[in-house]
Amino acid sequence: MERNNKNNSIAILGSTGSVGKQSIEIARLLNLKIDLLASSTSVDEIEKQAREFKPKYCVLTNEKSASDLKIRIVDLNTKVYSGEKNLLDVIEQSTADTAINAISGFAGLAPAISCAKSGKRIAMSNKEAIVIAYKFLKEEIKKHNAELIPVDSEHSAIFQCLQGRAKNDIKRIILTSSGGPFRGKNKAKLMGIKAKDALAHPTWKMGAKITVDSASLMNKGFEVIEAVRLFDVKPEQIKVVVHPQSIMHSAVEYNDNSVIAQMGAPDMRTCIQYAITYPNRMPSYANSLDFAKLGSLSFEDPDMNTFTLLPLAFYAIEKDGIIPTVLNASDEIAVKYFLEEKIKFTDIFDIVEDVVRNFRNIDSPTLEDILNADKEARALTEEKIKLFR
Ligand code: MG
Repeated sequence: MERNNKNNSIAILGSTGSVGKQSIEIARLLNLKIDLLASSTSVDEIEKQAREFKPKYCVLTNEKSASDLKIRIVDLNTKVYSGEKNLLDVIEQSTADTAINAISGFAGLAPAISCAKSGKRIAMSNKEAIVIAYKFLKEEIKKHNAELIPVDSEHSAIFQCLQGRAKNDIKRIILTSSGGPFRGKNKAKLMGIKAKDALAHPTWKMGAKITVDSASLMNKGFEVIEAVRLFDVKPEQIKVVVHPQSIMHSAVEYNDNSVIAQMGAPDMRTCIQYAITYPNRMPSYANSLDFAKLGSLSFEDPDMNTFTLLPLAFYAIEKDGIIPTVLNASDEIAVKYFLEEKIKFTDIFDIVEDVVRNFRNIDSPTLEDILNADKEARALTEEKIKLFR
């Protein structure tokens, strides 16, 4: 099989989450070997995966879950490890060419750096590492001749639209958004939203945190930051467009005003697969588009007055420094409290805005500054939440 993944072997970090499970389906479809499976606690799921793919390594960051798994798969030749430190060591030892980084949250950063250090292709699904510390990750990627291919559907689309074209040909990036399940509602209507309403996302199948972020358009905001970093453009070169059908996954407008868009059925598996097989394309699970059946595609501006986390993300990337880190940390805490039904949906907007706008920036932060800002922003958000409850 002609693929860029030389030894046909992959690592899946976060294998029991939504993107992780879909990566397993790709491995099955493309007949890939899996060298490493990593998750936090899901013993039943990872046992199933290990029995099917017989990886060299399994890592469960939770110690108790790891010792449980060790006993369960004692009949396999799989080495089982626990803990974050071992995960990083195993990533560096793994001979997989490509690692799918589907670990969610801040925890995805250190594994991404380990992937870079061992010269792997990183099929990057984790947003936080890019939003927070892309500069450091990029340095390691360059130093060790690694590479990063975006998995996020919009960034995968932009990456595809940019193939074969020079960076200074880009005029704008058109970042599409489904608008989320609450498109058209005003702030008063959003106040009564419960966690279960926010979790009923219309188009993409995802985890709880990112589903809430999609509903609040915070996710789109993170994607703006991600696009600025990955494609090295200015924030004002990003135009967010609401496109409820999620058929056009994003586009690039060039200097001559020609727009190249990437389209397809909304199926994350296509994005994951492309990141593995790039620059080649293989048959996939995605349905072929039937344009006549689609009928029409619609586009509109996002409601920035209601969904204030989106303009806040533009503010954060314009300030840069530690502010994107603060935005990420504060949102993570606020969403956690919302999911526990301790604050209202709109409180997320107000609390995060308050924390971000009042945080003192550091212009060229070290990694330590970033880690400190992350901690500080989380603590500050918890404090503000106490005032709201
Ligand atoms: Mg996306």
